[in-house]
Amino acid sequence: MPIDFRSDTVTCPTPAMREAIADALVGDDVFDEDPTMQALQRRTASLLGKDDAIFVPSGTMSNQVAVRLHCRPGDEFLCEAGSHILNYEQSAHVQLSGVTARPVTGDFGVLKVEDLQDQIRPANEHFVRTRMVTLENTHNRGAGRIQPIESVQAICRWAHANRLTTHLDGARLFNAVVATGIKAAEWASHFDTVSVCFSKGLGAPVGSALAGPGDWIREARRHRKVLGGGMRQAGIIAAGALYALEHHVDRLADDHKNASDLADAIRALDGLTLTPPDPQTNMVIFEVAPELGAAAQFTERLARRGLLMLPISATRVRAVTHLDLSAAQVRQASEILQEVVRAQFASKA
Ligand SMILES: *Cc1c(COP(=O)(O)O)cnc(C)c1O
Repeated sequence: MPIDFRSDTVTCPTPAMREAIADALVGDDVFDEDPTMQALQRRTASLLGKDDAIFVPSGTMSNQVAVRLHCRPGDEFLCEAGSHILNYEQSAHVQLSGVTARPVTGDFGVLKVEDLQDQIRPANEHFVRTRMVTLENTHNRGAGRIQPIESVQAICRWAHANRLTTHLDGARLFNAVVATGIKAAEWASHFDTVSVCFSKGLGAPVGSALAGPGDWIREARRHRKVLGGGMRQAGIIAAGALYALEHHVDRLADDHKNASDLADAIRALDGLTLTPPDPQTNMVIFEVAPELGAAAQFTERLARRGLLMLPISATRVRAVTHLDLSAAQVRQASEILQEVVRAQFASKA
């Protein structure tokens, strides 16, 4: 079995999670009669300090339901230039909802209120209407960077004062919770709606949830249905998510320690440069020097030795730690990286 650092989505359900899934009580959730779905939605809402939550099959659907709740055709939202909602969802906001996005470049995904202040369009019939601000925490393309709570507060306060609504793409919010000790409900309190993923670091096989005010979440059921996300005995998958929420949050600290150890090993190697230099959660991104070949050639050499990492540009590689990677495998990975770098430099000498 290769050691797989490509993403925290590659985890498989543990035996205990499979047992919870096998034992799940289920009903038809389109009739709102699935007790496990209801339990998961209540638990998620309560952890995030919101009235209610809705389970959806993916983080993409969760973000896109949020777009439809916040915006109408002809509206625009502000987002970070490298954000998932802008780059990795096929611009579904355009395709499906007639909404545009205005990107604002942050520092490895982290925005300050000053970055946003000039970005609201004037009220004038030439322009789309600026309606919402989205933040991503932790930031995927920013190598798992945490958006500091002070700037979250400042941005959301500014947004609400300017009659903009706010949405948090918290696919990896629990990584920020564990890394900072700031509770999920505190992070969430600044936003109108919050999306979280169960299928990333939490290690569930399927699913995300969107939390917010009760009347918004009732309306979200309509959007979920039209996007094809109304599911029947969905308690089967909700049970995995519920198990993950109860048992896999605190252990994210292990993933962070593993990422930090991997980063130390990478820092020690010539030809590899961490970017950003100080990984904060479970992701490490590094630049590969030209002497070591293109990122894809470099990861191909790693793969031949049983180590999988993800090329994310011509020169950059991403490694993500997760539930199915141990400290011993991180040490093995560090050795493989060292061997491949040395072999490559030796072949050039
Ligand atoms: C993975 C991810 C999503 C989307 O999740 P899918 O379940 O893959 O659709 C949304 N936002 C961020 C930041 C992500 O990393």
